[in-house]
Amino acid sequence: MLLRSRPAVLAALLPAVARAASSPSDEAKVQIMDAIRAGMAAKAAMRAAIREREAAPSPESALRDWTAARTAQSEMKVNFDLAIRLTQDAYRLKPEMPPEPRAAKPLSTDGAWSAGLSAAWAPEYGPPGHREIRGSDGLLHYLSINPRDGPKPEDVVAFTDPDGRVTIMPSLFDRIIDNDEPGLLASALHHEALHYRELITTGWDTHEQMEIRANQASLAMVDVFMPGLSAKVREEVKDALRARMAAYEALASAGATRSPFPNPEQEKRFEEAFRRQESRGLEYHDLVRHVERRDRDLRESLEASRRGLRWAKFNLWTLNSCVYIEGTTPGSPEWGRPDLIRARDQKLQSYLRGNLVVLPSDEIDAGLARGDTYGGDSAIARCQDRMIRMIRDLPSPVDADWMMDRIEYERRGGRTGEIISGVIESVRRAVADGTAALVKAASPGVATRGPGEQPVRDPGGGERGPRMPGDYNPPRDQARGISTGKPWD
Ligand SMILES: [Zn+2]
Repeated sequence: MLLRSRPAVLAALLPAVARAASSPSDEAKVQIMDAIRAGMAAKAAMRAAIREREAAPSPESALRDWTAARTAQSEMKVNFDLAIRLTQDAYRLKPEMPPEPRAAKPLSTDGAWSAGLSAAWAPEYGPPGHREIRGSDGLLHYLSINPRDGPKPEDVVAFTDPDGRVTIMPSLFDRIIDNDEPGLLASALHHEALHYRELITTGWDTHEQMEIRANQASLAMVDVFMPGLSAKVREEVKDALRARMAAYEALASAGATRSPFPNPEQEKRFEEAFRRQESRGLEYHDLVRHVERRDRDLRESLEASRRGLRWAKFNLWTLNSCVYIEGTTPGSPEWGRPDLIRARDQKLQSYLRGNLVVLPSDEIDAGLARGDTYGGDSAIARCQDRMIRMIRDLPSPVDADWMMDRIEYERRGGRTGEIISGVIESVRRAVADGTAALVKAASPGVATRGPGEQPVRDPGGGERGPRMPGDYNPPRDQARGISTGKPWD
């Protein structure tokens, strides 16, 4: 009844795709389901990153979340595309085609621009959305999902474009997982393969006639493709396909057929929607640029701080803070591990003992090197990246002093590394009240310089003496101009 209108076309086209299709091995089905599950896991990660992004406190963390979402999105696509390829091979769904397939002339003049377009078969995963295609008329054309295919966008699980692009949509993968039946993907590919075959052979008919034929082809294959579903569910699937065909048949009988191509007015609307879709992609790149700019400003600001007289103090803090930050941010191995944090602080302490040099301001002012033989430079260069990452998440303008205060606050709040905090605090006080001194993390060689002397490079291999007050070194090698008031440990 339903197909009376075009039995000849059906007889000619249906076997072309359906004849070759077959049921795959259980092993192939497991591989397909594994790929789909991996895609679903990436999809969950993508959604989590999107939620994080919406709550991100700064452009930088928004960018990180967004980048994570995009990475997960690519991983999802890689796995879904793999599932599509495996399904196509396992069910033998690849349509026959000439070496250089091209779109044939369609029935509707609205689609005249598609005739002759190169149309390769390459089904892939893709989200629902508007598409842009350059027609054989040289103009850009815009497409959307045909609303007749379902009252809701998720009713459509796949579509074929006039350049042969076949897109399998996310909703189908949800259904496959729910039913544990990869045959649903085979069925969708089989359906689109028929649209594809018509595209490159007879040319596209009315939307309704094409759907009647494709749904009839799907109906014939339900038992072949979906043995995993119960007989009852398979009957439901068949009923749904029959209902769909009946709806298209009713439209066709009422003379209400439509072209599968949008008319120029619809195209204009789709173009606007396509542009909006594209601008969302640009927002990401704007954010990347914004963060890069802010990053550059921040680097310059930090460099300016280093160039000032407080550079040495700043460097000490940078170095210490780096060690501190490394262990006390979520995601670092030491996070939530007091034992590791203690070990970290021990390490920091011995580093400071070996490398910390306190020099009077006048020595610095006399030109005692701005890093000429400064042993901490490379460490600081490494640290600064980490510092920058931390600081740029903070919403207020960056100021070195403010940052140091913040670190200090966090150190105290964390109640870890109290000994180090105490020393740093006393150094800080001494710097602040002017009794003193700038503090410099340095190679031991630097510390042996007196005022006006040339820097002496660390010859290497020599014994590195302690550098802190109370140690046995001669005065020049010790911290001078400052008293910490308490022992190190
Ligand atoms: Zn269809």
